Amino acid sequence: MLDAKEMTALDRDILAHGLLSDEAYTLVEAMSDMGSRFGGTASEREAVDYMLGKMTEYGFENVRKEEFTYTGWIRGAASLQATQPVKQDFNVLGLPHCGSYSVEGELYYIGLGTPAEWEAHADEVKGKIVIVDAKSPLWLRRGIHRLEKYGRALEAGAIGFIWMRDQGGFLVETGGMRVGSPIPAVGISREEGMALIRLAKQAPDGKVRVKIEMENTVKELPSWNVMGDIPGTTMDDRMLVIGAHFDSHDIAPGSMDDASGAAVTMEAGRLLAQQRGKLARTTRIICFPVEEIGLLGSRNYLRMHKSELDSVDFMLNLDGAGRGGEKGVILQAWPELIPVFKSISENMKWPFVSDAVFGMHSDMFPFSLEGIPSANLQTVESVSTGRNWGHTICDTLDKVSAHTLRLDSTFVARLMARVANWQPWPAQRKGRDEIETIMRESGLAPEMRYAKMD
Ligand SMILES: [Zn+2]
Repeated sequence: MLDAKEMTALDRDILAHGLLSDEAYTLVEAMSDMGSRFGGTASEREAVDYMLGKMTEYGFENVRKEEFTYTGWIRGAASLQATQPVKQDFNVLGLPHCGSYSVEGELYYIGLGTPAEWEAHADEVKGKIVIVDAKSPLWLRRGIHRLEKYGRALEAGAIGFIWMRDQGGFLVETGGMRVGSPIPAVGISREEGMALIRLAKQAPDGKVRVKIEMENTVKELPSWNVMGDIPGTTMDDRMLVIGAHFDSHDIAPGSMDDASGAAVTMEAGRLLAQQRGKLARTTRIICFPVEEIGLLGSRNYLRMHKSELDSVDFMLNLDGAGRGGEKGVILQAWPELIPVFKSISENMKWPFVSDAVFGMHSDMFPFSLEGIPSANLQTVESVSTGRNWGHTICDTLDKVSAHTLRLDSTFVARLMARVANWQPWPAQRKGRDEIETIMRESGLAPEMRYAKMD
């Protein structure tokens, strides 16, 4: 444990090194230039080697990659065409994990795709190609994830799924579906989606027929979790994990989602490694691959490290760190840690939000399912602005600011230096039943039905 004077000295050191460094930006720039780092690409392998080199340079111990195999996806052609009453082509993207299909049928617009809408219109959806708005209605007080809308389309007997982006700008959004998807799923821009819906309204009988053709490759691929340790002092058998995914979707460099998060993870690790000897717990820095198509890096990490999971006191996920805005440490199912983080915030003289809200859509989720105290560091704004550039071709280096990366990296390093020394730690590993009860009580029952829960 450090006294107040020693903590001030540590803060000054981290801030001086972190705020005067371009290292995090250098990482984002290099990884963006490699390509998407999407599972199965050459840029993924290049990023793995690059991160191994950087972790070694930063002085982490046991720097290594751990291989696993998963069902991967390689994009092929995808097309959407109105066939009746007029012929018209639309620009679409096939959604990951879909295979190869050729289907033609009547179009059905389900609107926002709320549970009530699917229920009321199930008969009309059956046998048709359904188009759904990606927006989540504010009044429902929860986001309806793509996988839930898709799952409900499947249950209603749709033969195709068209995912219309929530914002304009002629951008088409991608997003992972399910391995072995029995029906084709494509993304379309808001502008073209609305034009397609209008075609039906203009048709003499109110009906428009559309055809979706797709050809993709689904196959077993290898991938690698990349990690290194900063050994603790007096509590070196207790572990903290700081992690983020380094892959992005295959259509963009993914500078924000998530080269930035991986860079802040590694840079916070670099700053902490310089404080080795002042951190009681051991800190493991992990960059996860293939998050975008099913959180596969973190799921496989947990599968491969079952025997040591009891020693993990806390996991902080940094998906999207480095994007700016007010920050929050969102503690999944461990409200008992809120007072700890509130007091850390005061001690850091750096206000941030601490709250417990369960999230299922990034790499903290598999840790939470294992009952490991876990949180996501996220931008908390009073009004949600959706995905913005995320999952589109516009997720590029120009969106990233070197200064925001510096702020987030020093923030994470100072935060986790305190967690590494905190005693006593008031959170324990929870059982799977307890976690699922917390999830259901937080209103996640509908999402749990359509998510991968193992
Ligand atoms: Zn992400």
